[in-house]
Amino acid sequence: MIIIVMGPQGSGKSTQARLLAEKYGMQFVSVGEILRELFEDQNQVGIEARQYWIKGELVPDDLIVKIVKEFFNKHAQEKDYVIDGFPRDPGEYVVMKEVFPSEIDAIVYINLAHDLIIKRLKKRAQIEKREDETEEAIRRRLEIAQNVTFPLLQKFKDDGYRVIEVDGSPAPEIIFNEICFHLEETHTLIKPQ
Ligand code: AMP
Repeated sequence: MIIIVMGPQGSGKSTQARLLAEKYGMQFVSVGEILRELFEDQNQVGIEARQYWIKGELVPDDLIVKIVKEFFNKHAQEKDYVIDGFPRDPGEYVVMKEVFPSEIDAIVYINLAHDLIIKRLKKRAQIEKREDETEEAIRRRLEIAQNVTFPLLQKFKDDGYRVIEVDGSPAPEIIFNEICFHLEETHTLIKPQ
C-alpha cells in the first residue's frame, strides 16, 4: 500500500507523512531527505543534485528516478510506504508506477495559501537554516509547486486515483485527524496499528 503526500513547501507535508507512517505502521520516505543525506555522504549523485535544490529547482528526472529505484530495491522486503515528495513533475508521474513496490492507495494534498506559506517558511528558515530557503529559492520552489507539481493532482484524479485534499492552515493535529478520517472512511484496508 502506498500513500503519497503532496503540498507546497511549508504546508506541513513531511510532518503529516511521518505521522501517517507511524500511525499505520508504514515506512516513511522523503525524496528531499534522501537527496540531502546523499550530499552529506559526499555521494556523486547527491553532489550533482545539490546544484539544483539550492536554487529551488527540481532535480532532473533521471537522477530522481535512479535514486527512488535504488531506495526501493534496497528495501525490497517492505511494501507499505508513505511517500513525501514524489512525483513532482509529469516525467516522474509517468514512471511512478514502475518504480513503486505496490499499489497507490491514496494521494493526500495539503493546501496552503501563498501568504501563509511565506510566513511559515520565514519562521522555519530561522530555525532549520536549510540551504534552499533563501528568498530566491523559496520563490522558485513556489512557482514550481504551483505550475508543475500542482497540475499532477488533476492527472491523479483523471486517472481514477483517490485524492484527499485538506486545508493546511489549522494546527498539525487537526489536519492529521482530518486526513485519518478520510483515509479510514474510504479505505477499508487501512487499520491503525
Ligand atoms: P523537500 O525536502 O521535499 O522540500 O525537497 C527539497 C528539494 O529536493 C526540492 O526543492 C527539489 O529540489 C528536490 N526534490 C525533492 N523531491 C524531488 C522530486 N521528486 N523531483 C525533483 N526534485 C526533488
